[in-house]
Amino acid sequence: MNILGIESSCDETAAAVYTGNGLRSNVIASQAVHEQYGGVVPELASRAHHKTIWATVQQSLEEAGISLDRIDAVAVTQGPGLMGSLLVGLCFAKGLCLSRGFSLIGVNHMDAHIYANFIDDEPEYPFVSLTVSGGHTQLVHVLGPFDHILLGETRDDAAGEAFDKIGKILGLPYPAGPEIDKHAKGGDPQFHDFPQAMLDNRFEFSFSGLKTSVMYYLEDREDRESFLAEHLSDVCASVSRAITEVLVKKLENAIEHTGVHTVVLAGGVSANSMLRARARQMAGEKNCQLHIPRLAYCTDNAAMIAVTGYMMGQRGMYSDMNLKPYANLAESR
Ligand code: ATP
Ligand code: MG
Ligand code: FE
Repeated sequence: MNILGIESSCDETAAAVYTGNGLRSNVIASQAVHEQYGGVVPELASRAHHKTIWATVQQSLEEAGISLDRIDAVAVTQGPGLMGSLLVGLCFAKGLCLSRGFSLIGVNHMDAHIYANFIDDEPEYPFVSLTVSGGHTQLVHVLGPFDHILLGETRDDAAGEAFDKIGKILGLPYPAGPEIDKHAKGGDPQFHDFPQAMLDNRFEFSFSGLKTSVMYYLEDREDRESFLAEHLSDVCASVSRAITEVLVKKLENAIEHTGVHTVVLAGGVSANSMLRARARQMAGEKNCQLHIPRLAYCTDNAAMIAVTGYMMGQRGMYSDMNLKPYANLAESR
């Protein structure tokens, strides 16, 4: 089964080809237009998707060495994401399916972040996923393929959102998560104790207070600029510690609660080096197998959509032409 995967939920136009022999191509066109605004502008995102989607798909087929008529099904992100952006991918996928007679598979973007772990690996069920991205922070008990129980999620900001908003306060460019990660490597994680919220709650998260606390921490300083010039890396390391300690602690709670022997990280924040290291250490102590996608499969990509589509196709989970996008995860249930 040859699957063409298409992802357009936010500001990445991406296409990938996955076959029975594994991943054959993975192409991403990132949209630079948003940088000057310090965040994604939805209308600009849909226009950029519209402009690049066909070229991106063609490039993914070329790199895979597979012509369009050898594709069996098109897997496309159905949601959650920006409505306008999702519509571009979905309409394009439907058009291809109608004109070429391909099957259509609507993929949940958050499921795809989890199943990105199956591109290079084969995690054993049941497992727990710590799904940490720009819009979500969730602990998911995965009993079997597409059989999920949500253990807990964030009550306010997502972990990636916290990195991005705190980075903005620190004057770092968007998206700030990778920037904070980079600066943190040269810093002292113990430099300052930023709050680790809701540690008394087992599976739920809250990150909006952390952002406020960083804001006050800097606001109170008259020497803000020279302080940051000297201590940016220390602040980045301390912020990263506050976020990763909470994430790893709750992942540990989930292991104890479910009794699983396998855990996976998923989503853009799983690219974070401190989180990867701390999760490895904790999983080792708990005698758990830990899987983390390689960096290119952590943030948004179409390889994860294609592999998830492949797994859905194997199970007959096809969609029809009435497939509708949804902006929020809650609408998918
Ligand atoms: P969602 O998947 O919830 O719909 P999204 O698709 O926008 O949201 P992803 O692409 O999975 O999110 O992840 C992007 C997020 O990951 C951003 O918030 C970004 O700052 C963060 N991120 C990426 N790399 C790192 C890193 N090395 N350290 C910390 N955060 C990172
Ligand atoms: Mg992005
Ligand atoms: Fe994502």
